[in-house]
Amino acid sequence: MKKYKFYLINLIMITFLFSCSSAKKGTDTETFKYKIDQFADIKILRYQVPGFEQLSLGQKKLIYYLSEAALSGRDITWDQLYKHNLFIRRVLEGIVKYYDGDRNTEDFQKFMVYVKRVWFSNGIHHHYSSDKFKPDFSREYFTELINHSPSADFLKHANSKEELLNKIIPILFDPEVDAKGICQDTGKDLIINSANNFYEGLTQQEVEEYNNKVINKADSTPVSYGLNSKYIKENGQVKEKTYRLNGMYTAAIEKIIYWLEQAVSVAENEKQKQVMEKLIEYYKTGNLETFDEYSILWVKDLDSRIDFVNGFIEVYGDPLGKKATWEALVNFKDIKATRRAESLSANAQWFEDHSPVDERFRKKEVKGVSAKVITAAMLGGELYPATAIGINLPNADWIRKEYGSKSVTIENIAYSYDQESQGSGFNEEFAYSEDEIKMIKKHGFLAGNLHTDLHECLGHGSGQLMPGVTVDALKNYFSTLEEARADLFALYYLMDKKMVELGLIPSLDVAKTEYTTYIRNGLITQLTRIQPGNDIEEAHMRDRQLISKWCYEKGQADNIISMVEKEGNTYAVVNDYFKLRNLFGSLLKEVQRIKSEGDYEAGKELIEKYGVKVDRKLNEEVLARYEKLKLAPYSGFINPKYTPVYENGAIADINIECPDDYVKQMLYYSENYSFLPDYN
Ligand code: ZN
Repeated sequence: MKKYKFYLINLIMITFLFSCSSAKKGTDTETFKYKIDQFADIKILRYQVPGFEQLSLGQKKLIYYLSEAALSGRDITWDQLYKHNLFIRRVLEGIVKYYDGDRNTEDFQKFMVYVKRVWFSNGIHHHYSSDKFKPDFSREYFTELINHSPSADFLKHANSKEELLNKIIPILFDPEVDAKGICQDTGKDLIINSANNFYEGLTQQEVEEYNNKVINKADSTPVSYGLNSKYIKENGQVKEKTYRLNGMYTAAIEKIIYWLEQAVSVAENEKQKQVMEKLIEYYKTGNLETFDEYSILWVKDLDSRIDFVNGFIEVYGDPLGKKATWEALVNFKDIKATRRAESLSANAQWFEDHSPVDERFRKKEVKGVSAKVITAAMLGGELYPATAIGINLPNADWIRKEYGSKSVTIENIAYSYDQESQGSGFNEEFAYSEDEIKMIKKHGFLAGNLHTDLHECLGHGSGQLMPGVTVDALKNYFSTLEEARADLFALYYLMDKKMVELGLIPSLDVAKTEYTTYIRNGLITQLTRIQPGNDIEEAHMRDRQLISKWCYEKGQADNIISMVEKEGNTYAVVNDYFKLRNLFGSLLKEVQRIKSEGDYEAGKELIEKYGVKVDRKLNEEVLARYEKLKLAPYSGFINPKYTPVYENGAIADINIECPDDYVKQMLYYSENYSFLPDYN
């Protein structure tokens, strides 16, 4: 797995989540408003930064400087996604700021929704589908907006208003013009048909020929060719414009370097200082070998409390997977939550020895994988406003193999999602009773976190194959069986007294909560993602239904789980948690046997019988109930704001606020962190 980035579509149905340490000082969890805006298919949330106040002044300053560096590259991302994006944003913001006509009309509201969507996606293409947005207002209305924004400085972008309109209207309104940010349609020329700004004047064939020429396939430690440059055509040849100081994007990179230099001055330790100095060197030279050296230093820096990502990292934006989009994340380790994962890892052998699987299939010596849990302090570039909740870097395969990788989960962001979903009406619709809702409110977040920790840190790593058996034996059923195995391991142990002994849960109620939501999801709520007539394809979804249906069927004689009808709605109810745990144990035993022995036929039968087919009538019922809730499938976040407090000319503290106005933050960023010209 290179990296995992979840855009949290319908997260409320996903029962695994991460835990929270409570926020203090003016940020009361009970009253903090998480959702601050909703439009189109998007909702805007806020996140808290618990623990910030307890950091040392040096650490706070470090976060502040790194945050400024994270905001300074914003324009780069916009320009990379589409070459007209900065020009468009400035014109749209001119209207938002200076339109002197009636703002209370339906048309103006539609215009604002359009602008908010553009801000959200860092450009005019949808952040997830990459389709160009269709404005809900007319060209005529747009012309009127331009004409009635007298104080906007549109002539910075064109010689006359006519010229401006002639240029921008086709880009915004003509569905044929640059319709797709990233073209993934293999029948087409992926370069010509992608509107993003990584290539210009080149065909896919020309790019591929050039890549074949420059990439040395025999190199066992290759640099990430093309990662930080735009390819253009000059005199019939491919030429690279490198993103670096005095190269492409120099004005923004200069600011990033400035803030990184400030950060160096307050580094927590020598290792961290070296990481930042190496990154500065890379930004100055654009040298990809320097980038690899930086990545190695970064992955080895495990002791610092504060950590960050700042640069050209992920290559999803390029259909050929070479060019990286700029992104930034500033964070610090959540010590309490990290300890949770570490405590499981430290006891990995105990869990292995006590698992219900056949002794032959247990590992004699297990190693728990420990992952870091972090608190996000600032999101930037491609990670703002829509962000990942987990990151696993670096991406270079040879560095991962030789030096490992850092795997992090972003707890405060996940907590924000969880809290917001509490108020969405989802639990009220699908939970069977008031008591269930109460349990979820009280224990749901911790329960989901522990499930994830057990699944990731121990579940996947447990068990062993019989001599001569390889994982290939299970073919296309491998992923589902592997996820089921890790889930079952987690479910089985959540209910173990050992969890209470280790201080990981206050009582078994946490486990009961997870059992309730897991079964409900597997039998009912995950069907909200299945369109009528379709089967379940995705491995995790198959795994959840497989486990839930199998337990439902096997527990029927004892009425362990029941499907209850109430006023035309169907509910899944767990009646006996302890017997359910035994069923999880039995199924874990069988799935482990299937994996260890490579029993393809048994694995196939299990999945095909329980994991694939859906109850059509129930599916329709669930979709109708979900539709009523009018939930926005995508979420993003606005950032906290850090302000230095000066005393006698020196920074004495860093103040943190959680603003709640999306429009204001976007305009503020454009005014204060926009360093690039319209075209680069
Ligand atoms: Zn997994």
